[in-house]
Amino acid sequence: MNRKNDGTIVFVGGSFTSMLTALHLLKHNPKEKIVIIEKETELGGLYRNFKYSETNIFDHGVHIYTETCNPEIDDLVFDLLPENEWMKMEGKFRDVSGTYYNGKLQTNTPFIDIRNLNEEQKNKYIGEIFSSLANDPNPLAYKNTEDYLNAKYGKSLTQDIMAKILHKHYDTEVSRLDPTSTHVIPVSRVVLFDDNVMSEFMGSKSVRSRLAFPDQFNLPGEFLRKGRLLYPRKYGIHQLIKLLEQKLVDQGVKFVMNATVNSMQSNDQQVTAIEIKTVDQIQSINNIKHLFWGVGVVPLARQLELKLPEHKPEFKKGVFVNMRLNLPPNTGLMYYVYCFDENYSTFRVTNYASYCPTARNEDGFPICVTLWPKKDFDGDYCKLAEEELRSMKLLSDYHKVNFAKAEIANTGFPNPTVESANFVDTARSKIKDLNINNLDLTGTMSEKGLFYLTEILEHSFKVANAKLVQKAQVTA
Ligand SMILES: Cc1cc2nc3c(=O)[nH]c(=O)nc-3n(C[C@H](O)[C@H](O)[C@H](O)COP(=O)(O)OP(=O)(O)OC[C@H]3O[C@@H](n4cnc5c(N)ncnc54)[C@H](O)[C@@H]3O)c2cc1C
Repeated sequence: MNRKNDGTIVFVGGSFTSMLTALHLLKHNPKEKIVIIEKETELGGLYRNFKYSETNIFDHGVHIYTETCNPEIDDLVFDLLPENEWMKMEGKFRDVSGTYYNGKLQTNTPFIDIRNLNEEQKNKYIGEIFSSLANDPNPLAYKNTEDYLNAKYGKSLTQDIMAKILHKHYDTEVSRLDPTSTHVIPVSRVVLFDDNVMSEFMGSKSVRSRLAFPDQFNLPGEFLRKGRLLYPRKYGIHQLIKLLEQKLVDQGVKFVMNATVNSMQSNDQQVTAIEIKTVDQIQSINNIKHLFWGVGVVPLARQLELKLPEHKPEFKKGVFVNMRLNLPPNTGLMYYVYCFDENYSTFRVTNYASYCPTARNEDGFPICVTLWPKKDFDGDYCKLAEEELRSMKLLSDYHKVNFAKAEIANTGFPNPTVESANFVDTARSKIKDLNINNLDLTGTMSEKGLFYLTEILEHSFKVANAKLVQKAQVTA
């Protein structure tokens, strides 16, 4: 393909975000010259899958595309498949989930339901919550998770319940955690009232941001979240990556696999060239038009040789135990279930067949038990996952495990402590201070608090629009 040579747009990290942003840029300017650099042998980041045979695949835990409600983004995703090849989850079935808490499976809501506590204790919590209603419920307004939860619920519920749930997940005190620690665990609300009482309170935003409606299937329509959840009818989120890759290849995008950035040259607040290292060679890309860095704030600061304070991040080990069962697990209609009890290593159990009718194969129903194992555990993860599922009664005596394989997540998950959040903030602000015009951070934490894929996509498209799409329109 013949291209006007006004430089190359480079994406570092072959994630869904990079690929979709590249497609967006090409839609606005088909002449863009784009290169995507990926460290692994496969594209897709967390949208990759584990493939054991043609018919035995698993996603990396629960990964369902959540619409951003920005048509510029959602239409590109929706157009990847014909309309009838999408599973569309919306309304009351948009996101059905639950929690295992205090030795019981809750199917009514993922938020902890403490309606059965004794009246005295419940009244204490209710009193403290209602005295806290004037406080800002935004986690990013607080310097640590304890302050955030105290401001939201008062001290009693924070210490008696929430601090224990967070300790189970992060092995540390809430006072050491950054409020972003609450992103992956549903601790932002609690159930204290039945449907009829809660209906009376739903008009108040500050009550609604603390108290959950007791039954996700009875939530009044106006409070249902907008934006559908989309999943391919044919099982496997990775198909979206394959389809995107094909579209990008057809439009001349070059992928460099097994590759990382070795060095960067800049001049006059512009990245001018980069050197890429693959297994057996080093190659250069000169005349960089724009560089999207989607693989972490700290790695970029290090690449730019910025001086950072001493800091040793604590990494949480994540393990995906992929199983096929002879029967569906006892998780009802739920797509996934969190586990809040301290004596379990299970973080989340995903039942793929509950949102994808073709997930079942001849070996049975696929599920994924995501474990955050205790530090000293050195046993068999598959056995641990099965024992915990049986103990939680998600599997009965009739259930048989036909297939099980444990996969250790290769990246790990940095424990979101205040110290590590400050470290990332320092790295980000040092990068911004360099004022490099054609270099932008995308991906997780590229802005403070940025975590969910919807936010990451919106941020990446915003950068692309501001720096490249408008320019393309002006020069067109
Ligand atoms: C436990 C957990 C639960 C989560 N739950 C949710 C949820 O419920 N909803 C939600 O929206 N989000 C959730 N997230 C966050 C979400 O998964 C991420 O925000 C999102 O996947 C990040 O996507 P990304 O496009 O930035 O990149 P990623 O999908 O992380 O991809 C990055 C890519 O870059 C590659 N790469 C890495 N380093 C380099 C390098 N040096 N050079 C070149 N390539 C490199 C990787 O191999 C990968 O392909 C969760 C995250 C965790 C850890």
